[in-house]
Amino acid sequence: MRQDYDLLIVGGGLAGNSLALALKDTGLRMAIIEANTREQLYASPAGDRALALAGGTVKMLEALGIWQGIRQAATAIKNIHISDRGHFGKTRLSAQQENVDALGYVISARDIETHVARLASEANIELICPARVVGLMSGEDAIHVSLKHGDESFSLSAKLLVGADGGQSSVRKLLDIDQKATEYGQTALVTTVKTSVPHNNTAYERFTASGPLALLPDGDSECAVVWTRTDEDAKALMAGSEKDFLSELQECFGYRLGELALAAPRRTFPLSLIRAEKMVSGRAVIIGNAAHQLHPVAGQGFNLGLRDVVALAEMIIEQHGDGQDIGAADFLNRYAKVRQKDHNLVIGFTDNVVRIFSNEWLALALVRNIGLTLLDHIPAAKALLARQAMGLVGRMPRLGSRR
Ligand SMILES: Cc1cc2nc3c(=O)[nH]c(=O)nc-3n(C[C@H](O)[C@H](O)[C@H](O)COP(=O)(O)OP(=O)(O)OC[C@H]3O[C@@H](n4cnc5c(N)ncnc54)[C@H](O)[C@@H]3O)c2cc1C
Repeated sequence: MRQDYDLLIVGGGLAGNSLALALKDTGLRMAIIEANTREQLYASPAGDRALALAGGTVKMLEALGIWQGIRQAATAIKNIHISDRGHFGKTRLSAQQENVDALGYVISARDIETHVARLASEANIELICPARVVGLMSGEDAIHVSLKHGDESFSLSAKLLVGADGGQSSVRKLLDIDQKATEYGQTALVTTVKTSVPHNNTAYERFTASGPLALLPDGDSECAVVWTRTDEDAKALMAGSEKDFLSELQECFGYRLGELALAAPRRTFPLSLIRAEKMVSGRAVIIGNAAHQLHPVAGQGFNLGLRDVVALAEMIIEQHGDGQDIGAADFLNRYAKVRQKDHNLVIGFTDNVVRIFSNEWLALALVRNIGLTLLDHIPAAKALLARQAMGLVGRMPRLGSRR
């Protein structure tokens, strides 16, 4: 079989396109395999969600030449306000205190997904779509990939295959990589609201008895809403009228931002934590949501995925530059080792936030409220939380630390 490519990337979402862009000047022969047509991707209702990007993520997007084209569409988060409804604890983080321009940015997933796909196409990165991977076999020198393209079947080979095909990753399944899935029995309700009081670039995370609620500044006078409810509650809230939805939202959030008015359709995203048992098998590696799909409560999913992208890109550049095999087992295992700690930290942090703040048990409510109050009074702990929120905890990949 021919060895057609050095690198095949399965999945033309945020992770897949960002990786291709990071490697565009290496001379590697690469292609992206995407299940959808471009039109289907851009029209997907899933794009109607807001992403909170940490400061560290923005630095990496800048280094990759991605941020410059979307900066105008993003809203800066200057303050973060975390509170527990019905209890005393609250904490505030501010960009001014942390000596940074912004703690993070909010942007619509559609804006950034469309932008990276356009940049990849302008960089002449080959896109094979709509096509699905239906078989994988790692050999000594290459990985062999069977594809279905409409009624047509064909195969390709590469030195390395990267699975960036999302939470339901076919690559992960075809590689027989087990996954640990935690079902929270929760659904994210997502929409946009207009607020009668200006948001002043403040992101609100409010923990309520019925689930966490985030209002993220989005444009001058609107906020993106990510509201986590039980599956049953979410179903009822979607089945009810917009008026009933809005009045329950207002009741949960309160009047800190005045009257809220719906400015976009309501959408739902079922929530679970999916973590692959390993990242590497043969000449393949999985990154982004294919390796870890998180609850959005802490807004860490793509932030973590982009750190996978940048770490892998840096290592591939070095390995390829040294004339070494980019699909070699010891090389891929080294990548997995590099990423393990960050995965453990962020997945553990997110899972703990979901569990601690979804619990109305009095002792836990007390612990988290004391925690929030103490946090507000201990500058070092607050600074650590701010650094976590900004995506600056742990080692920053070199690409991300470049200015
Ligand atoms: C409600 C909600 C709010 C969120 N908020 C935040 C936030 O504030 N901050 C943050 O950092 N993250 C957030 N996230 C997470 C973030 O959206 C994801 O982490 C990110 O989109 C994952 O990107 P990805 O490229 O890894 O996967 P995906 O975006 O799922 O892309 C996978 C791509 O692979 C393609 N594909 C799938 N199967 C195949 C196949 N067999 N063959 C070929 N192609 C295939 C798909 O069509 C898709 O294009 C949120 C998620 C949700 C649901």
